[in-house]
Amino acid sequence: MSTSPQSNTAALRRFVSALTALVNRSQDEASLVREGSALLRELIARDDWLPEELTKPHPQYYQQYLLHADAQERFSVVSFVWGPGQATPIHDHTVWGLIGMLRGGEVAQDYRPGPGGALMAHGAPRTLKPGDVEAVSPTLGDVHRVSNFYPDRVSISIHVYGANIGAVHRHVYTEDGQRKPFVSGYSNAWLPNLWDRSKELTQ
Ligand code: FE
Repeated sequence: MSTSPQSNTAALRRFVSALTALVNRSQDEASLVREGSALLRELIARDDWLPEELTKPHPQYYQQYLLHADAQERFSVVSFVWGPGQATPIHDHTVWGLIGMLRGGEVAQDYRPGPGGALMAHGAPRTLKPGDVEAVSPTLGDVHRVSNFYPDRVSISIHVYGANIGAVHRHVYTEDGQRKPFVSGYSNAWLPNLWDRSKELTQ
């Protein structure tokens, strides 16, 4: 790890501090989504802070690197790294979530239950480009499928969830509406060190 290039983890630390203050003062989902989105927009306005180790794609699987989990599991922050052409299954979250596009692009398609219980695509697919932020939750619409916009390059989005998302019991779905339990875990067994300021670029 000592060979890591310098990175501006101060930006991530400021984001985590601001989110902690936000969840300390509000449990209202609409406020958390609105104010959390503004903070996330600020974080992803620059692409100079994500440590290199947390940008690495896997040849087969999209990666979910934990950047920070609140000590009380009120929120978590994840870098979602898409290899070329990779996609999630249709899935839910069961908690509020924010998706901020950092690098590349992704396509999100919402689903809703249709007649007979099968899932139906809801609305048109949306393409997120760097700087875009969108939200999911059981009240806003919680079932979607997400894929890398690019067939030939890596894309990265930063996700924030209202729980320790890697440990949340949720679901993946088939198009015919079958639901299977799912716990995502995280791709990294290690965390960025937010507290060693010696490797930070000075701000
Ligand atoms: Fe999702």
